[in-house]
Amino acid sequence: MGKKTKLMMLGPPGAGKGTQAQRLASRMGIPQISTGDMLRAAKKSGSEMGKKAAEYMDKGHLVPDQVVIGIVEESLKSPDVADGFILDGFPRTVEQAEALDSLGIKLDAVLNIQVDEDVLVKRLGGRRACLTCGATYHVEHNPSKEEDICDKCGSETIQRDDDKPEAIRTRMGAYRGKTAPLIEFYRERGRLYDFDGAQSPDEVTAAIMSVIEE
Ligand code: ADP
Ligand code: ADP
Ligand code: ZN
Repeated sequence: MGKKTKLMMLGPPGAGKGTQAQRLASRMGIPQISTGDMLRAAKKSGSEMGKKAAEYMDKGHLVPDQVVIGIVEESLKSPDVADGFILDGFPRTVEQAEALDSLGIKLDAVLNIQVDEDVLVKRLGGRRACLTCGATYHVEHNPSKEEDICDKCGSETIQRDDDKPEAIRTRMGAYRGKTAPLIEFYRERGRLYDFDGAQSPDEVTAAIMSVIEE
């Protein structure tokens, strides 16, 4: 069997989906499709869609399915995805997963990263994000070389509005209620691979690479 190149990251907020998706994208030379990054870019641009989405995101609620499905459908039409892609943060509901099916997209592997909730809350509380390139840092575990400055692109890093305690609780609830059912959805289809996200970033990447290249 050849390399797996149509990939999806699955896991609760803070599991390391974005961190791993960025590493896989650069190693494999395929694009990361992050709905969170695209929605934050829309918010920053001040577009109507961005303003609407921000009302949900900043409180930690999921953005309505139709909006997110529309964005992903657009990205999957791009010629960049011909050799594969890494979906990061989509699908997040069974409705979104069914929409992906109806687009005729068959994923090669769903990479399910699991981490205990108490660890997640600490990771999200210390996360700093670059809104320009999507890189993330952690004030203790993975600080940028210069405080508040992105190593990759030199922009300022910030604490996201939804990385504050109340929004974190809401997001965990949305994950448990709406996203966690996707674990069984994809396990039944034989596409799911489990990873222990409490390991170091390098260990998680190595475990994922061994599944993708098998
Ligand atoms: P997600 O995209 O799943 O929400 P991120 O990749 O943004 O998660 O990671 C959340 C936070 O945890 C970030 O601050 C990141 O630097 C940190 N982090 C990511 N992976 C690990 C890991 N394996 N161990 C410790 N901290 C991590
Ligand atoms: P995290 O990395 O912490 O899991 P993301 O950056 O993926 O968070 O997403 C941030 C926010 O953007 C979500 O809390 C939600 O409001 C919105 N969002 C991102 N992807 C989706 C999606 N597939 N469906 C609905 N809302 C989404
Ligand atoms: Zn950056």
